[in-house]
Amino acid sequence: MLAARLHAPGEALRLVDVPRPEPSGSDVLVRVAGCGVCHTDLHIADGTQARVELPLTLGHEVAGYIEGVGPSAARALRRARLAVGDPVLVFGGWGCGSCRECLAGSEQRCERSRAPGFQEDGGYAEAMLVPDPRHLVPLGSLDPVRAAPLADAGVTPYRAVRRAEPWLPEGARVLLIGSGALGQFALQYLRLIVPGGPSLTIAVRELNPARLEQASSLGADIGLLDGDGAMVREALGGPADVVFDFVGNDQTLRIGADVVAADGLVMLIGEAGGHLSFGFDRPPVESWLTTVAWGSHADLSDVVRLARRGRIRWNVEPMPLRQVAEAHARLRGGDVDGRLVLVPG
Ligand SMILES: [Zn+2]
Ligand SMILES: [Zn+2]
Repeated sequence: MLAARLHAPGEALRLVDVPRPEPSGSDVLVRVAGCGVCHTDLHIADGTQARVELPLTLGHEVAGYIEGVGPSAARALRRARLAVGDPVLVFGGWGCGSCRECLAGSEQRCERSRAPGFQEDGGYAEAMLVPDPRHLVPLGSLDPVRAAPLADAGVTPYRAVRRAEPWLPEGARVLLIGSGALGQFALQYLRLIVPGGPSLTIAVRELNPARLEQASSLGADIGLLDGDGAMVREALGGPADVVFDFVGNDQTLRIGADVVAADGLVMLIGEAGGHLSFGFDRPPVESWLTTVAWGSHADLSDVVRLARRGRIRWNVEPMPLRQVAEAHARLRGGDVDGRLVLVPG
């Protein structure tokens, strides 16, 4: 089967013919329908992402069809009401299954995690192995090519918004930095799942005018093409209770720290590699800083439920897997509206 593999950091991905994997033990073989192309894939290809094992088939936003199961997976699959041929979304935070985080349902935080497209072969291929049926979410009538980005771009902002809820009472002020695929999901979740969602004042800072326009159609009150902390505060009518930073470079983190209220929350979700100096006088007194990566199994099921009910919208552009180099080049150039999804065959 065809797979796009990385052999060395900085090298082009190789389109190679590899044996179709055989499911053993608790494995499930998934025929890939689509695999989203994430910025993290570019960091992996560049060699700037930590904890990557090469050579490797990239891709961690995968949806497809169950094609086969290992002997000890059959019962778990039935228990999950899944069968060969069913369309599924692949949860990507594969943990060890036995540590404290895994047992508490926060498998994506597992220190011994081995994730597809990072340490295990992922979805830039015609098929992939998933080590346990618990990592599969039934898609029902959702088209797997459209659904693929939910596995990361959809679930990560969902978790961010859920975790920020205690900082989002009625009328709270929010700054969202970067309105790409993840930011667009976050905007919708803010209005949809936060109890006081409709009453929030949400400002979006985004350098791309077309995306800024899209953000206003998804519920942003204020659009800022540029601007430092003082300008953002003025536009918001005060400091922000929550800052969601989907860019995450030094500059955006500094803006977040300048804008956030005392006791407010700054969430770093973007992986541009920025850093923020932390001391007693800045960020503001008793403010909170945190990061978000992936979501839990429960978060992903919630997102799929919202998608199946038609409550969220997102753009997908399918591209043939063979054009993976072009897909990466376009993402690098910012020439993407929504998510590129690689489709094998
Ligand atoms: Zn990703
Ligand atoms: Zn674990």
